Amino acid sequence: VSLSTGEHKPRILLMGLRRSGKSSIQKVVFHKMSPNETLFLESTNKIVKDDINNSSFVQFQIWDFPGQIDFIDSTFDSDTIFGGCGALVFVIDAQDDYGDALDKLNLTVTKAFKVNHNIKFEVFIHKVDGLGDDFKMESQRDIHQRATDDLNDAGFDQIHLSFHLTSIYDHSIFEAFSKVVQKLIPQLPILENLLNILNTNSAIEKSFLFDVVSKIYIATDSTPVDMQSYELCCDMIDVVIDVSWIYGIRDEQLEATAFDEQSSSLIKLNNGTVLYLREVNRFLALVCILREDNFDHKGIIDSNFVSLREAIQQVFELRNKSQSVMLTSPGS
Ligand code: GDP
Repeated sequence: VSLSTGEHKPRILLMGLRRSGKSSIQKVVFHKMSPNETLFLESTNKIVKDDINNSSFVQFQIWDFPGQIDFIDSTFDSDTIFGGCGALVFVIDAQDDYGDALDKLNLTVTKAFKVNHNIKFEVFIHKVDGLGDDFKMESQRDIHQRATDDLNDAGFDQIHLSFHLTSIYDHSIFEAFSKVVQKLIPQLPILENLLNILNTNSAIEKSFLFDVVSKIYIATDSTPVDMQSYELCCDMIDVVIDVSWIYGIRDEQLEATAFDEQSSSLIKLNNGTVLYLREVNRFLALVCILREDNFDHKGIIDSNFVSLREAIQQVFELRNKSQSVMLTSPGS
């Protein structure tokens, strides 16, 4: 599967003013740093902070908004950078005066749009943990209003911006990334449907397909997501990874965790609920929530899971095949 070569992974660009929180987001989401430790992150003057994490389903690169250096500068090859990316996440520090950030947002978005019309624009109104609920909503409304007005004034009313309230101190940053990544997965409706079928046939209440390294969920069934269930599943992945690191065999050089095709885990909660995790491929795991009584039919669940895993494999392979066909015969 060429998924493992990384060619078809969703590519995300993270931009924003310095100190807006980009490195912290990267460390917390992709490197399991605890939020408090980000206080001690060294501020660097490097403009690109490359992070092509091979163990994740998502490709991710950070750019400090080029402050001194503008887009015309040769170090910023906008065609390559914007051309190859699926989503541009612009981080705004909501605890700070954001006037300047809004100007840079406008510049960045219009420039990127000229290069690539298909790019998805996502604004993270970040560090909202320090704000009260009223102020949070008011900031979101204000930022939304001003950002869209600026775009309209510049004649770019066809550009659509999406907004997310985020913080590294809770699960909102993971939730926001999940939404961003899901927009970049063309197979999403098929995956959602497969999970619906799994749930119906196995008496499962909720299933998530997780990128294990980042705890981003790339798909879920069509029932609504409640944050508490999502957090439970995230915690379960943490437990599985921690135990794998302690007791599993791993390859230090590849920085690979002991997460592999044998990985599975079962956690029973004291409210009659079961969390069940199974490995799907190198990056992905299925995490299900179901009632303990229904777990009596574990055999059925496991055999349904095997069918699901095959179907998911096919979904990604098919797409990659059709892409390579398009590449080899552009005229047909
Ligand atoms: P960068 O220059 O954009 O990479 O910003 P950094 O990641 O270095 O973050 C700057 C500061 O913001 C650090 O002290 C972080 O601890 C802090 N920070 C980042 N995210 C959050 C957040 O969600 N909430 C709060 N309160 N502080 C944050």
